[in-house]
Amino acid sequence: MLLSPVEFFRNLPKKECPKCGQVMEEQAESYIMECEGCLAKKVE
Ligand SMILES: [Zn+2]
Repeated sequence: MLLSPVEFFRNLPKKECPKCGQVMEEQAESYIMECEGCLAKKVE
């Protein structure tokens, strides 16, 4: 029986931005390590 993606990611620890420590709840499938705020700063 397969777990749904939601159940799977629920079991993972929350990702935190390594720069500002903000918890990112919807980045589970992402390779992006930083929160939107820090990414936005980067793109300046
Ligand atoms: Zn951040």
